[in-house]
Order: sequence, then structure tokens, then C-alpha cells
Amino acid sequence: MNDEVQRLLKQIPSMDLLLGQPWVPPLEAELGREAIKALFGEVMNEIRAGIRSDSVRVLNASHIIEEARRRMEMRAHPSLIRVVNATGVVIHTNMGRSCLGDATVGAIMPVAFGYSTLEYSLETGSRGHRNAHVEWLLCQLTGAEAALVVNNNAGAVLLCLAALARERGVVISRGELVEIGGSFRIPDIMDFSGAQMVEVGTTNRTHLWDYEQAIDEKTEMLLKVHPSNFKIQGFCGSVPRAELSTLARERGLIFMEDLGSGMLVDIGVPALSGEPTVRECLEAGVDLVTFSGDKMLGGPQIGCIAGSAELINKLRKHPFMRTMRVDKLCLAAFEATLRLYLLGDYDNIPTLKMLRASSEELRERAFTLERRLRTAFKKCGVRSFEMDIVPVEDAVGGGAFPETPLLGWGLRLRLPGRGSAAKLAEKLRVPPVPIICGVQDDRLVFHVRTFCVADVTRIRDVFLSLFERTEEA
Ligand SMILES: *Cc1c(COP(=O)(O)O)cnc(C)c1O
Repeated sequence: MNDEVQRLLKQIPSMDLLLGQPWVPPLEAELGREAIKALFGEVMNEIRAGIRSDSVRVLNASHIIEEARRRMEMRAHPSLIRVVNATGVVIHTNMGRSCLGDATVGAIMPVAFGYSTLEYSLETGSRGHRNAHVEWLLCQLTGAEAALVVNNNAGAVLLCLAALARERGVVISRGELVEIGGSFRIPDIMDFSGAQMVEVGTTNRTHLWDYEQAIDEKTEMLLKVHPSNFKIQGFCGSVPRAELSTLARERGLIFMEDLGSGMLVDIGVPALSGEPTVRECLEAGVDLVTFSGDKMLGGPQIGCIAGSAELINKLRKHPFMRTMRVDKLCLAAFEATLRLYLLGDYDNIPTLKMLRASSEELRERAFTLERRLRTAFKKCGVRSFEMDIVPVEDAVGGGAFPETPLLGWGLRLRLPGRGSAAKLAEKLRVPPVPIICGVQDDRLVFHVRTFCVADVTRIRDVFLSLFERTEEA
């Protein structure tokens, strides 16, 4: 080791010096002594490595201390926190997809606080089944003979393929070999399940005879996948469900459909017209339908399989079931959500309420936000601002219906002399409840469709604290 390296290494602040910083005790109250030491150690190790590899040539002790403090403060705050979604994307996968209403959250608490009937039958006083809490509800709502839930829809598809079509042929249209956000790609799932994918047709058109010609003695299943996140237009076509169903029946094959978003009922939103409900798919003769619990259904993250009792009984026994089983909090929330469907109480399912919100309602909400912000700006002496209420394009999200616009209302805001809209949007992401909004033409855009209760107040409070501080400075 040369002298320069030695000299630099000696300049690294000692652990004692770091631990003695005045800002350490409050952070220690959040993180504990051991984590504080480990985080200091991490920072110092990085600097040591930098010195040894010659990428660090000058040391500044106060910078090191600042860096350690920054990291600790970051770690001291909870990481998975609530945000305000002002993007207008209802099923926003990065922000947790569906929000849950009072009735649903209320059902989670007692099960979380205490022991529960998760796998305990009160009737027999012995072991029960976790699936039983929701199976009859799913059957009631979809007309299915049987139903099964796993931790998400990707798992549901994988389970069905692995349990029913391992080492057997699964025929699928080339127009349905979809990728749904990153790691869920039909060909990969198929490969991993051990099923043999047989692609038929072309990207834009697949005919019944494409399927007919592909069927041989190895074929076990016809698979239809909802092209959730894209739409092919122009010269295109796929085979109607009912025809595929007849073909499957004639040849003794399973007909499965991955419906993706999975609407349970038609909620009368024009942007969603033409989307089949789970019941419609089953009525058209699909043997098994898989769908998500936290997309259009508006519940917690879960994957549902509904359809033939004979097939579902085979799935129940598969070893994958154990690796995909649903957590009790999730099940409690899902059961509560399905009960709301039973009563037709769609306004207590926030995803449905957001999708069904009327134009007048949204416009009124945008005006409320405007009034509240105007008062807030006045209060902290912000005189220069431009606000207008504008029509905006919202989105269903969840990789669903990209091409159908969902028209909504928003508030556009420009604050001259207070930095670019992009910089302001960054500042809105710093408070304890961060605000995530759109930026367009150097203006902030707040889409009000995706607001939850009290979000208008939250946004106002963030601006109040933002500008009260700058006015003082
Ligand atoms: C979203 C989606 C999936 C994945 O569902 P998760 O619940 O996110 O696992 C699978 N298939 C289709 C068609 C989808 O739209």
C-alpha cells in the first residue's frame, strides 16, 4: 500500500466520531444502535474501497458525515407509504393497483389482530380450507361450478398450465403471445410450466382452421389470452370464444382463457364496453377463466380461477398450490370485496367508483381543488399563479384498454418564478404523503379521478408547507 493510500485511509472519520454526531440520537430512536453502526460501516467501507481503487483522492470528512446522515434519514422513514395519485390512471400497478374501501379495510383488522378461521372449520372443530371463504362467493358471482384463488393471476395461469398441460400441447394464437409488464410473458410462463406451446395463425389474424390443423394427439388445451395492453387494428381477427369452445368440446380438449383484468359485472362505463365479464366467458363455454383480484375487480392482490369443478379439483392437489397460497389479510379483504358485489354496492369499491365517476362530479372536484389552492396561495403570499380546469385523458390502467380514452377533468397549474413544473413535481414527492401528478407544457396537471377521500386537503397542505417555508426563507 503506498503512502498516499495510507494517508487517506487515516483521514476517514472514526466510528466514535460518527456516533457522537448530534443528529444521531433521534435517528437511533427510529433505527436502533446496530443498524446505525452498520450504515456508518457501509459508508466507510465504500470510501475505503474507493481509496484503494484510486477513485477517491481527496477526503472531506464533513461530506462523509453528510452522506451518512442522508442515508440514515432515508432508512429512518417507512418505505412503503401512502401517496396521492393525481395521474388519473386508476389501476396504477406501480402505486398498488386497487385501493380498498372502508368495508374492506374493516374486514382486514380483526383477522390481523387475532386468530381466525383461516383454515379452521367451526362446524367440525378441525381443519378447514382457506379457499372455502371465497369459493362460493366467486361461484355465485360468476356462475362457475368451482373456484380457486392463488396469490396473483400470473400464478393462476402458471398453476393451470403446470397442473393440466405438462408435457402436453397448448394451442395459442400468435396474436395472443403477450407480455404483461416485464416478467410475465406467455411463452416464458408456458415454458416454465412444462407445457408445450403450439403457436397458430399470425400476429393480426387467426382462423378456426388454424386451430383445427394444429390439434394432434399431444394437444391438451386451447388457450385464449386477453391482449390486455395493446390493440391490433385494421386487417385483423380472432376466433370467437363460442367457436373455440365447440372445437375444444369436439376434440376433448380443455379450453382456458386468461382474462387478465377480469370484470365480474358490467359496470356500464362506455370506455369498458365490449369487455367480457367472467360470467360471459363461462357461458360461452370456457372451461377455466383466470383473472386478477386487484385490477378491474377492485380487490386486493389475488389470482382467481373459475370454471369446471373437475379441472379445479385437479388444481387443488398440485404442489404449486402451497407455494402460491393466499395470505389471510388478503383473503379477508377479498371476501369483503366479493360481498360488496353480492349486494351491488359498487360505490364502496373505490376502483369501480373511480371508473364510474361522472364528468360533472370530476369537474366539480377539480373546482374544489382550485378553490382550496387559491386560498392556500393567498395565505402564504403566493400572488403569481395560473390555474385552469381542463378536460384530461385518464386511463383504466392495469394494462387494460389502452386505446379507449377515459375522459376526465383536471387542474392545470403554473407557478411563474418558482422553478420548472418538473422541479415542482419533484418537490411534491418529498412530503410525508407525496403527491404524484402529471407535467405537461411546463405545468403541473392534477387528474382528480384517482383522488381518495381527503386528497384535496392533502394537496393543499403540501403547497402550504412548501410555500410557508420559502416565504420565510
Ligand atoms: C395483468 C395480467 C396478468 C397478470 O396478472 P397479475 O395479477 O398481475 O399477476 C396475466 N394475464 C393478463 C392477460 C393480464 O392482463
